[in-house]
Amino acid sequence: MTFHVITIFPEVFDSYLKESIIGRAIKNKKIKIRFYNPMDFCPPKERVDGRPYGGGPGMVLRPEPLLKTLEKVFSKLKVKSGKLKVINFIPNARKFDTAYAKLHARKYTDLVLICGRYEGIDARIYKIIKNWKLQIDNLSIGDYVLTGGELPAMILIDSISRQIPGVLGKYESLEENRVSSSEVYTRPERLVYKGKSYKVPKVLLSGHHKRINEWKKRAG
Ligand code: SAH
Repeated sequence: MTFHVITIFPEVFDSYLKESIIGRAIKNKKIKIRFYNPMDFCPPKERVDGRPYGGGPGMVLRPEPLLKTLEKVFSKLKVKSGKLKVINFIPNARKFDTAYAKLHARKYTDLVLICGRYEGIDARIYKIIKNWKLQIDNLSIGDYVLTGGELPAMILIDSISRQIPGVLGKYESLEENRVSSSEVYTRPERLVYKGKSYKVPKVLLSGHHKRINEWKKRAG
């Protein structure tokens, strides 16, 4: 899977993608992440954003640098038909969830993620992408408004990547393939804090998998 991220702030991805499971997945070439910055396609002295027609406080990302960026993404890309999708982040669209992550991990080899900023991107981009006969989804990661699409892109990359076989340490650790609980414990078996003792539920120490799974289901 290759993620092609279009962003005017590529640096914000650095530390998150370097660490832990995602960092390892990149090293092991299970996933690739490429960045394309519309600023690089904006003539010197021109701005990448402009005032919105019809008024309003925020700025809008201009279409020409974005189109040049998209052309760059597609210029060298050889993808089998139906294996590429463009994802445009907007707050009030269809919601991202695990089902979406699973489907896209399985079905696509290339996802192009457009990170908006300020008031968003010039809407003519969508029409042009549709004219190119590309699949495009508008996607929201939740009912709240962020300052940009970079966090949504990182959430999508993280969640889709862990659905790709070999990315997690053990494939079984995917939530869907086992009974899991968010009530979890580790050492010590008995925690003493300010004179009080806190114990791990006995059933988890029993080694009785059926009973442990029943407990996990109950614990939620
Ligand atoms: N006033 C705009 C808000 C723009 S927020 C509106 O009503 O749509 C700026 C950018 O952040 C958006 O273009 C989008 O790319 C991203 N963004 C903010 N919140 C988001 C969310 N919940 N899901 C996905 N993208 C979001």
